[in-house]
Amino acid sequence: MLTCSDSRVVPELIFGGVTLGELFVARNAGNVVDTDVLGTIEYGTEHLHAPLIVVMGHKRCGAVSAACDVVAHGTKLDGSIGKMIQPILAVALAETDRGEAFIDKTVHANALNGAERILAESPIVARLVDEGKVKIVSAYYDLDTGVVEFMHKA
Ligand SMILES: [Zn+2]
Repeated sequence: MLTCSDSRVVPELIFGGVTLGELFVARNAGNVVDTDVLGTIEYGTEHLHAPLIVVMGHKRCGAVSAACDVVAHGTKLDGSIGKMIQPILAVALAETDRGEAFIDKTVHANALNGAERILAESPIVARLVDEGKVKIVSAYYDLDTGVVEFMHKA
């Protein structure tokens, strides 16, 4: 599972009834796919035999909001945050709706993009998917309702 570091997005709590030894989790602000995440996912699938990869974004994500602020208002981000959110910036730039739904649409697109990038950038995961041993899905967690929506690219 790849999800955000947000303190409200704790997969072991969200998917109630999950106990020790059940989820292999990578988290960072904005659930960004990078080398560490890809290595973690490859380890979890190839060596620990996890059958499902879930890339889960969430409502009111701060990292996605920051990327949307950069795109919409030209905000500058200091330190490593600016570098870290580069993949989210690309997703936000591709979003045509810059209105009220901009952040939420970018959260959805970022989770879909993350799943696509895992498949495109990890030959190990691509092989496991081809062999039918692993599936990849994207999801959106609504902080207000507690509902997790699983998405499929149209
Ligand atoms: Zn977040």
